Formats: sequence, C-alpha cells, structure tokens
Amino acid sequence: MKPTSRTQLAKRIRSDAQRFATLKHELTALDYFCKGTLLKRMMKCGKKGCACQGSPAKRHGPYFECTFKRDNKTVNVRLPTQAAPLYRNAIRQYRKLRKLLDRLERHSRSALAHLAELQSVDRN
Ligand SMILES: [Zn+2]
Repeated sequence: MKPTSRTQLAKRIRSDAQRFATLKHELTALDYFCKGTLLKRMMKCGKKGCACQGSPAKRHGPYFECTFKRDNKTVNVRLPTQAAPLYRNAIRQYRKLRKLLDRLERHSRSALAHLAELQSVDRN
C-alpha cells in the first residue's frame, strides 16, 4: 500500500465524519418498526356443510398474522385486518433499519481504519 499523506488522510477523516452524520440522521427518520413477515391467510372453519370446506375460493378471511422468530421460536401474532398496513409498514421500517445498520457498520470500519492510519502517521 502506498503511503498516504497526512493531509489526504485528514481530508478522508473529515468526509468519513460527514458521511457518518448523514447516515445517523437517516436513523432519526425511521418510524415504528418490527421484525417479521406479514402473512395473509384464508381459513377453513369447522362447521359442517360450510362452503369453505369444498372450495378454496370460499374460505374465510383474509386473516393477517405477523410472524417472527424470538429465541429461535417462531411467533405468530394474529392481527386485526385493518392493522395489516400498519404492520406492513413497520416490517418495511425494520428492513430499512437493518440495511442502515449494515451501512453504518461498514462505514465505521473504514473510518476507524483511517483514524488508525493517522495515529501511525503521527507516531512516525
Ligand atoms: Zn366455513
């Protein structure tokens, strides 16, 4: 690796800090989030002779569930139908959060490398 001048390094460190601040700011724009998947189900009931027994098109529903893993177990939470969009958005927010955390981590890693490089330049 070719040696980097102290000025170049200082410039990188400044832009690292700016980029980090921008990413952190994106975190504040997040809305309520939850981990999981939204399931839409059509169900058969237990009533004898009900139309749902014979035809998938005549099943009851839709019923919505939010499913996620907690302590390695799958948890299903039944949702009121009208709450489905709320949870759909929360699940989207959670994915956004995870992506953002990944980016923050990757960025931090490279910023830390620049800071460490500056330390070693300053020591020599
Ligand atoms: Zn039925």
